[in-house]
Amino acid sequence: MKGYAMLKIGETGWIEKEKPACGPLDAIVKPLCIAPCTSDIHTVWSGAIGERHNMILGHEAVGIVDTVGELVKDFKPGDKVIVPAITPDWGTLYSQAGYPMHSGGMLSGWKFSNFKDGVFAEFFHVNEADANLALLPENVDPVAACMLPDMVVTGFHGAELCNIEFGDTVCVIGIGPVGLMSVAGANKRGASRLFAVGSRPNCVEAAKYYGATDIINYREGDIVKQILEKTDGRGVDRVIIAGGDNDTFDQAIRMLRPGGTIGNVNYLGEGDTIRIPRVEWGVGMGHKTITGGLTPGGRLKMEKMASLLATGKLDTSRLVTHVFDGFDKIEEALYLMKNKPADLIKPVVRI
Ligand code: NDP
Ligand code: ZN
Repeated sequence: MKGYAMLKIGETGWIEKEKPACGPLDAIVKPLCIAPCTSDIHTVWSGAIGERHNMILGHEAVGIVDTVGELVKDFKPGDKVIVPAITPDWGTLYSQAGYPMHSGGMLSGWKFSNFKDGVFAEFFHVNEADANLALLPENVDPVAACMLPDMVVTGFHGAELCNIEFGDTVCVIGIGPVGLMSVAGANKRGASRLFAVGSRPNCVEAAKYYGATDIINYREGDIVKQILEKTDGRGVDRVIIAGGDNDTFDQAIRMLRPGGTIGNVNYLGEGDTIRIPRVEWGVGMGHKTITGGLTPGGRLKMEKMASLLATGKLDTSRLVTHVFDGFDKIEEALYLMKNKPADLIKPVVRI
């Protein structure tokens, strides 16, 4: 079969591989829609998770089941499914402890385009199909559903990580597709004033649509200063980091009120350390909590996210700015993600 792969750090291309084999609990799936991710860009062009050779890229897909193993109960060939980006081993102790995304070790629930071939292929393998696939609801467009495997769950996870309570003042730093879903998630969890930090006009418009009350442009001055000015020096209760670089951490701590929480979902692709500003962290005693997490995976989460689309409670179509048709367009879509033109939020390829 054909797949689009990371050949080595900094290099991608089409390759031929054997169709994957199906274990007794597993499924082989053919993609219907795939989406490239900023994480694919960090993986290939920053070498953020280390060297990989001839590894098929991609971890965001809606597909159609091709084959299932003899122990799979709930799925059959022909079913249309949403495939979570993270597909944990549900029997591990990490999963039992409540961290399925780290099943098998740090970040190891993230298998596609990390430890095994990803979804930019004619066929791909899904471990533990009953626990890791979700049926695509009949009234949901596969293109819109393709925002669920990673963008929605990750953006919402930012809101979960920082435990937003009704009436909290929240700042979401970064309003690409992930940050936009953090804005939507924070809004759903009851944020009152909701700052969104970005610069591109289409992202700004989308942020307002998803519930942002104030837009902060990081290109027009220090975001900490801007937030403190707008909050009479008090800062915000919660910060979700969904963009920026290592310095963004520093800024997040500075804009946070004592007792506040930071939820980071940004993939820190470069550098060895992250700085914490000593004084603004209350010289170690400010009760400012820092959390960061890989997106949760699995069927239950995905079914719940899909039901938000099926009931019309969430509209992901605002995220999809570019739709390509045909398997061969994967390369173009990935490079679009790499080059990030101003009008791009997220591309999807319909296979
Ligand atoms: P994008 O690149 O599309 O968006 C990044 C956002 O950050 C943009 O709004 C951009 O502004 C803004 N930004 C850039 N630099 C700064 C800065 N210095 N200060 C403040 N804001 C800044 O990324 P995605 O939305 O696709 O992904 C966001 C991050 O989430 C990525 O690092 C990605 O790898 C990661 N990720 C993490 C996952 C997880 O499991 N935790 C899963 C999926 C993705 P603008 O472009 O408007 O100028
Ligand atoms: Zn992704």
